Amino acid sequence: MTNSIYFDDPNILDLWEAYASPTERICISQAAGRIAASTIRQYPPGIPEVIPGMIYSEDTISNLTSAFHAGADVIGVDFESGGFIDVLTEIPKSNLVKNFKIKTTYAENVSEETCVEIADFFRAGFCTAPYFHFAFHKDDPLRALPATLDYAAWAQSLSIVNKTERGLVQERLLSLALSTEGQKKNEDLVNSIHLPEGFHQWTNKTTCRLLMRDRLQDPGYVTLVRDKRTNDIVGLLHARMGTLERLFYSEEWHDPLIFSGLKHVELLDHPENFYKKMKFHFGLNPSTRLMTISAQLLDPKVRGGEMFYLMMRDMAKMVSPIHASLPILCEIPSEGTAHILNVAINERLVFGALKNGHPVVFCHKKSAALFPFIAEKSHWRQILKAAAKSERQFNRQHFVASKSDCPDVNVILNGGMGLAVFATDKIKSGTRIAIFEGETYEAEHALALPVEMRDHAVQTGPKTYVFGYKGLAHCLCHSCDPNCGIRNLTEIFTARDIEKGEQLTWDYRCTENSTWVLEKCLCGSKRCTGIVRNYDSLLPTIKKEYQSKNMLSEWLLKE
Ligand SMILES: [Zn+2]
Repeated sequence: MTNSIYFDDPNILDLWEAYASPTERICISQAAGRIAASTIRQYPPGIPEVIPGMIYSEDTISNLTSAFHAGADVIGVDFESGGFIDVLTEIPKSNLVKNFKIKTTYAENVSEETCVEIADFFRAGFCTAPYFHFAFHKDDPLRALPATLDYAAWAQSLSIVNKTERGLVQERLLSLALSTEGQKKNEDLVNSIHLPEGFHQWTNKTTCRLLMRDRLQDPGYVTLVRDKRTNDIVGLLHARMGTLERLFYSEEWHDPLIFSGLKHVELLDHPENFYKKMKFHFGLNPSTRLMTISAQLLDPKVRGGEMFYLMMRDMAKMVSPIHASLPILCEIPSEGTAHILNVAINERLVFGALKNGHPVVFCHKKSAALFPFIAEKSHWRQILKAAAKSERQFNRQHFVASKSDCPDVNVILNGGMGLAVFATDKIKSGTRIAIFEGETYEAEHALALPVEMRDHAVQTGPKTYVFGYKGLAHCLCHSCDPNCGIRNLTEIFTARDIEKGEQLTWDYRCTENSTWVLEKCLCGSKRCTGIVRNYDSLLPTIKKEYQSKNMLSEWLLKE
């Protein structure tokens, strides 16, 4: 296995370092000795052979090239147009430590004076640094907000009681934020730490200080980065322990305006909703003890993964074993270092890491994407290794029967195809087999969904997807010649009589009409298309056949 080269060679870069470094495109034949910046995998089996940070050896290059010539799908190298890949232009070097000092203290040892300093710093960052809210659900008030947003105007918009009117104003602000004009404005913003106009409406000095005092009363750790010359705080990492309930009310999870001193009943999340979601995604109860962590870097000079990582390392040295064994739940921005790390690691992680007792867990925007972070580098490599392994066990771990499942079937492991569903008895045409049960997510297209949701989300509208990992529905395999169809948007039913022992399958294209692609279909049927794309890609004759048997999702027919 080439993977072992990555994990055992001490001379190469960590994944995150490679991921955050400058890259260039070169031909794979020139890559020997260069450091990889992207992931390359053969399918099947789909396990990466090259991941960012790994050095290309002559062996790796010739393996990949001959695999391609032997007809394998090599994902990540565009052999057809010359075999281009991404590599690092240079190995990043650091002089951050020279100009800044990093120090971690126990929260209980933070003085009143420092607490005020932290609160003011936190407040400044809250407004000037790109700030994004984390949302679990499409109805969650904590929607992602772009960095370029006019926060002052946004804060004012929150007081518009009429929902439609408020929506229109906010939509206008968002489109302005995404326009060139808004982006330009933001450049000035992020290059200074001066507070923007309207700042007082978004946060309140007294409220911020009280809130920080309150948060620092919980057992925890504070890591501060100070400029060596001025002694100003330029970076903050705060980790604290609390029950889920405590965190819910004292973080912005309950009230997005918690720092402002304003109250807007409509924006409050209901505890029952939140607890239900946490139970569903992570198996957490309100009384579960957790760590949460907030990070902030304000000075443009210290932005980026390196300082973030140094802060994490410094804190990790002090974290007590009791706290380190707790899961960590926190929000992360939808861009920037934490996001890049999240994306990088998520390619190798799945739901359920939390239950494994990993010390740090980040929540991806709108998802339950998780990854462990606080660890020595060697330990982290072990975690990555374990994560790659647990990814393969994902389906098996997360099959939980649902009440709506048909009783006359059995779920078994079907070789390379993963889980599959077989009839244990005769089943009449039109019988319900399973329902996709879970939350509804909105995304422009399937590829915008978090990685571990993509293959387990069913499209129910132009931009809506239902995701839920419980029940039989996710175990049903795709076939280009299926015996089941989909109705009522999420219900899989038999489209003809089924014999005992027959495998139950459906054609994902009966509801999927986004950019999602199944790279290599293994259905084995005579009319297999190899690559499986969306509904639009179906032959007119097949479309007609599916429609005559009512196998197509209602939303497609409305289009
Ligand atoms: Zn097929």
